[in-house]
Amino acid sequence: MKTDLRPEFEVFPWNKNLDTGHTVIDEQHRILVHLLNRLASTLVDEEYSVVNKAFDELTAYAYRHFDDEEAIWRTYLKDDSWYSSHQLRHASFLPKVIELKEGDLGKPLADVVEQIIKFLIRWLAFHIIDDDKRMAFAVETMASGVSIHEAKAIADKKMGGSMRILIETVLSMYDGLSSRTLDLLRERKARMKAEEELKEANRRLEALSLTDQLTGLFNRRHLYVVFDSESRRARRDKMQLAYYLIDIDYFKRFNDSYGHLCGDMALRQVANCLQRACRRPSDAAFRIGGEEFSILSVHRSAEDVVVFGEKMRQSIEDLKIPHQGSDINEFVTVSVGGACKVPSSEDTFDYFMAEADRRLYQAKSSGRNRLAVSD
Ligand code: GH3
Ligand code: MG
Ligand code: MG
Repeated sequence: MKTDLRPEFEVFPWNKNLDTGHTVIDEQHRILVHLLNRLASTLVDEEYSVVNKAFDELTAYAYRHFDDEEAIWRTYLKDDSWYSSHQLRHASFLPKVIELKEGDLGKPLADVVEQIIKFLIRWLAFHIIDDDKRMAFAVETMASGVSIHEAKAIADKKMGGSMRILIETVLSMYDGLSSRTLDLLRERKARMKAEEELKEANRRLEALSLTDQLTGLFNRRHLYVVFDSESRRARRDKMQLAYYLIDIDYFKRFNDSYGHLCGDMALRQVANCLQRACRRPSDAAFRIGGEEFSILSVHRSAEDVVVFGEKMRQSIEDLKIPHQGSDINEFVTVSVGGACKVPSSEDTFDYFMAEADRRLYQAKSSGRNRLAVSD
């Protein structure tokens, strides 16, 4: 797919000096040049199959073109030395390319292709701009009734002098241009690789991060880690481990009323408030999803678990964030579900999570803005 697109950089841009004046030949030359540009663009992929396909297409097309071109010259210059030497030059093209391609099997693919491309550019540019043009001039002159001998002399004269200088100039321009374009292609490839590596580094960094971007609270991944250590500690100290699930009431309607940006601000305010509620080193607040938070903390008794949860719920209401979409309060409120127990080694995180979720559902369905904790 990609190789069918026009290459982004052309190592060999078409130039009107390349026109011989013979429509069929010029059309085929344009296609050859296009295939060459395409081959150069595969350098970026550095995938053997892609490069090889482009290469095979180019050489197959070159052969077809040589046949067509020879048929055209043959009609005018059949028994002439120009025709036979032109044929010989065609015949030597592919062996030279194959020699380049196979003589360097140990080299990196990109180096081999680059060498071939440089050869092809020089060969094609010279062949088109000098050889074919000279033939075309001679043929054109013969069409006006001039003898072969004279037509060739006229063509040679035309191709000498200032035309010679033009040819030399164009050829050296192509040489310089192709090197620079190949450098650009290489740079682009290096940049793409660097960008990919940067993205990968960011992905890894993201995976290592412990905090939620919007609120700065710990994220869900870190919750599992903290749970393990707190659970072990509570078990050892015979303390109540409390897991609170905190869900903002009617938050969808909050976004609907004030917009998503205000929604984000409210989330930050709620998060800050929960963070402040975590006074002791063993308390930790998390954002575990959109408008859902949780707190993990350790208490001496089940009563303390209720007191702490209730204070936290009240502190959110006390923020007095206006919420016109709420059915139950003029301000933003939260419902809280709590799970607590002195954990045994069997009490996994899943147990606390499921229990807190059940209690949260209970708090929501019994009117919201309230706390429900396991007995
Ligand atoms: P309930 O009282 O039953 O919890 O109702 P609710 O509307 O709060 O609950 P629901 O789960 O239907 O909707 C949660 C909403 O939270 C939906 C979504 O638009 C919003 N939300 C989730 N993540 C974000 C966020 O990062 N930013 C903002 N602004 N809104 C968010
Ligand atoms: Mg929710
Ligand atoms: Mg909600």
